[in-house]
Amino acid sequence: MTQNRKIHLLSQELIPLYEDLNKDVKVVIDEHGENCQECRELLRDTVMLDISLSNHNNEAPAPVRKPPFYQLIWFKRSIFFGVILLRLFILGMIWQDYNQIVTYTEAPLGLAKEGIRASMIIFYLPFSIFSLILSIPLVKMRFVGLLAVFDLILIFYMQTF
Ligand SMILES: [Zn+2]
Repeated sequence: MTQNRKIHLLSQELIPLYEDLNKDVKVVIDEHGENCQECRELLRDTVMLDISLSNHNNEAPAPVRKPPFYQLIWFKRSIFFGVILLRLFILGMIWQDYNQIVTYTEAPLGLAKEGIRASMIIFYLPFSIFSLILSIPLVKMRFVGLLAVFDLILIFYMQTF
């Protein structure tokens, strides 16, 4: 029997007692749960059940505990970070395009600026809306709100460029 299989069997036995386990044992189970869907689901259900039971039985609210899967939280944050990077990348592309038109073509400046205004509406605005909606389940609403304000100001500002 592999080491992982042994840990899995132990986890299945121990997860129903999760709240009472020693901290080090919880860490072992958490680490195993990151790679084992079966244990992860069992753990999630157990933790949920514990919270709702203690809400039900005690006057005192359930103690706030950190969610067991920090990795999932970090994963969501990294996607949000990627969304921000992608913004900068698209803005960079639009700016680069404008610079090339101004530097290498005979196009009048007014036309080049018209191009950058149009790009903000045609490319950046839809990307902004789409990525803001995508970000809602990833991070706290205030971060999505901040990003939305940033985009709004930027898009309006660029229209006066
Ligand atoms: Zn397992």
